[in-house]
Amino acid sequence: MSLKIYNTLTRKKEDFITREKNQVQMYVCGPTVYNFIHIGNARCYIVFDMIKRYFRYLGYKVKCVQNFTDVDDKIINRSKEEGISCEEVSEKYTRAFLEDMENLGVEPAEVYPKATEHIREMQEIIAGLINKGFAYVVDGDVYFEVDKFKGYGKLSGRTKEEMRAGERVEVSERKKNPLDFALWKKAKEGEPWWDSPWGKGRPGWHIECSAMSLKYLGMGFDIHGGGMDLIFPHHENEIAQSEAYLSEEPFVRYWLHNGLLTFREEKMAKSVGNIVLLRDLLKQWHPNALKLFYLSTHYRSPIDFTFEKMVEATKAWERLEITLDNINFILTRGRFEALPEKERTKGLEKAIKRTEDKFKKAMDDDFNTPRALSAIFELAREVNTFIDENQSRLVIEDKKVLKEARDKILNLSGVLGLKLMQPLSILPDLVRKLRGYYLELVGSESEESLNLEEVLDCILSLREEARKEKDWERADQIRRRLKEFGVEIEDTPFGPRWRFPLAK
Ligand code: AMP
Ligand code: ZN
Repeated sequence: MSLKIYNTLTRKKEDFITREKNQVQMYVCGPTVYNFIHIGNARCYIVFDMIKRYFRYLGYKVKCVQNFTDVDDKIINRSKEEGISCEEVSEKYTRAFLEDMENLGVEPAEVYPKATEHIREMQEIIAGLINKGFAYVVDGDVYFEVDKFKGYGKLSGRTKEEMRAGERVEVSERKKNPLDFALWKKAKEGEPWWDSPWGKGRPGWHIECSAMSLKYLGMGFDIHGGGMDLIFPHHENEIAQSEAYLSEEPFVRYWLHNGLLTFREEKMAKSVGNIVLLRDLLKQWHPNALKLFYLSTHYRSPIDFTFEKMVEATKAWERLEITLDNINFILTRGRFEALPEKERTKGLEKAIKRTEDKFKKAMDDDFNTPRALSAIFELAREVNTFIDENQSRLVIEDKKVLKEARDKILNLSGVLGLKLMQPLSILPDLVRKLRGYYLELVGSESEESLNLEEVLDCILSLREEARKEKDWERADQIRRRLKEFGVEIEDTPFGPRWRFPLAK
């Protein structure tokens, strides 16, 4: 089976055929840089990151363009509130966005164009639209005339009446039709402006995405993405401008939209006042947990945020980490005998193959991540059963199949954007405390430079020594103290090991 993608434009799942062989060219609407992003915005970036990674898994080269809207009413208002210039506002929040994406583990776009650096390109399109009779000038403002563009409404599937009832349509006497939208806005006192054939002013919001996508990807590129709230009017208007300007269609081959995050029954939005900033969430929760929270639901479905679901997602992540820990522990500690027992690994080998098939089938069906995840979890269960059944007597064949299972879990989770088996040394405060405890145990004051894994191994071997000497009290005390630090000791057939329970 090959990849099928739901196209908002045709309202169907379609075979995915790229414009250029083996290459996907995509544009994802980026943030308006006037504030830190919230976790609803993050859904869009997590979803398109997963999509990009899956394209690469399929062997495509991917070029993704993501804009920064750095001229907008919201930025102007924020600059007044903070008493800094619009450039300072947008620079600050552009930097914050890139930082947030890095912390979230979302891969950077190939091109990050800024609206303010493409004013000339926007003016060119506006001039072209006026020339062709699709736009008109009213006292320094320029509007797109929707009645002139036959396909207006084709993306949102709404009639003009329905669109007019839409909340984001601004009524004005200057417009011929209330649905007409601004391509260029006459400068007001104290606002940023650029010279233009229509007087000093600034561009409207929609024209920037047409200008930047056409510049970096050209007409007829593969994928245009964003949240469902952008279908109308933003993307509807982008289509109208671009297709009218170039007298060509389609502007975009596949339109993809992620469902919205709600919180307390309403869309998460700054204007509603129910936002959780991504950077605040990531102080308490791991990016893997947020990604699993999102990927457990299909990207087009709405999803409601609750902290209970974040606990569930963390537990799911933990199940994968424990499985990988189990494998790694056996691979480093297990004694594998050279016995000819080929038969017993067959079941797990088949499970690995089946997992990849199910994963691909699920993802090929319009990126069905809930089903793709369940394939990975099924493999994790099979691995754990295999270990339980065979760990009392390991043979050399087991080593190979366990490694394969580990690599498959890591690899497929990575395609979804999860980063498993990361070193734990990212907890500096805990390392310091544990190092202090270790020095207390060995009665030494010398400065040790052990990392987290090393210091825990040392403490664990002290506990082992105590057990050998039948000093049960000391051994127990070490276990209890480690528990206070949030570390659990688990005794296994290959000796004890430590681990951090991830779920709260
Ligand atoms: P904005 O800065 O408002 O243009 O939003 C940036 C991206 O986040 C756009 O693709 C929006 O569609 C998306 N977005 C905004 N709010 C939500 C939400 N509550 N749930 C999911 N996506 C959202
Ligand atoms: Zn856009």
